[in-house]
Amino acid sequence: MKLLEEKIKNDGKVLSDQVLKVDSFLNHQIDPQLMLEIGKEFARIFEAEGITKIVTIESSGIAPAVMAGLQMNVPVIFARKRKSLTLVDELISATVHSFTKNETNEISISKKYVNEIDRVLIIDDFLANGEAALGLVDIVQKSGAKVAGIGIVIEKSFQPGAQRLKELGLRVESLARIASLSNGEVTYINEIVE
Ligand code: 5GP
Repeated sequence: MKLLEEKIKNDGKVLSDQVLKVDSFLNHQIDPQLMLEIGKEFARIFEAEGITKIVTIESSGIAPAVMAGLQMNVPVIFARKRKSLTLVDELISATVHSFTKNETNEISISKKYVNEIDRVLIIDDFLANGEAALGLVDIVQKSGAKVAGIGIVIEKSFQPGAQRLKELGLRVESLARIASLSNGEVTYINEIVE
């Protein structure tokens, strides 16, 4: 997605060969206009999948997921990382190791909102080693629903997440695919000249 790729180049900060900071439009301050375009793009890509629910993870997946939900006219559920006093329904949980925080969290959703009849689109902000997405796949499958696809805003294709998900037979669609963050520079997959 050209608009997103340009935004990353202009406003993203390469923190290391492994980590990209996008605090100015996705992970802290949010650019609503860009999120709307991202939502439209996910809706277009997954139009034929018969999606009934979107599942994401707090907190940075919520903005793109809500915009996709708005375009697709389906509800959005975000998995919670901490037990909430108000989340008293029966929970479905999975364990996820965080790439950026280097900590392990239990993530949960209520059984009430996702079930056998659903075709779920999983959305997240980044795909690195695939831990967060695999945790969400685990939860959705435990609910009896079908994972109809995985929509990622920024995929770091040099890390194994996309491959791990595709090996499970899942459809993964990423709006920006980063081949490398070497030398402080963002290079996209489609920029590599062979
Ligand atoms: P994974 O679970 O695929 O290893 O990592 C994905 C999760 O870690 C995302 O939900 C995202 O919050 C975070 N993450 C992974 N890599 C990056 C990165 O380069 N920059 C930022 N801002 N977050 C990242």
